[in-house]
Amino acid sequence: EMTRKRKAPIKSVLLDQSVIAGIGNIYADEILFESRISPFSVTSHLSKEDWQAIIDATHRILSSSIVAGGTTIRSFSYGKNHAGSYQDHLMVHGKEGDCALCDTPIVHTRVGQRSTWYCPSCQKEK
Ligand SMILES: [Zn+2]
Repeated sequence: EMTRKRKAPIKSVLLDQSVIAGIGNIYADEILFESRISPFSVTSHLSKEDWQAIIDATHRILSSSIVAGGTTIRSFSYGKNHAGSYQDHLMVHGKEGDCALCDTPIVHTRVGQRSTWYCPSCQKEK
């Protein structure tokens, strides 16, 4: 309901803490990849099925990341002596090279002010 009229790109809405709390930049990229939805998709164009895919992907990815102790990359870690291992599972965020699913080069761009990675072939713009 809160997003039905939003024209902003879905990536920006997933990062908007007033809509959904707790999804950071790394996980927004991974959630949209697993949902096969382009980060540039106009939020109001998403169907109920698209939202279900986003919700399912969010549950799976955040649960797996918690089990792995989180993600430790150059731009984020939660302390010198603590390292999570979810970075080994990242499919697009911070990746250079080709998509693991389709061999299309991963694109690094910006959505709003945020660094964004996605596969232009697997992730469809809505
Ligand atoms: Zn791909």
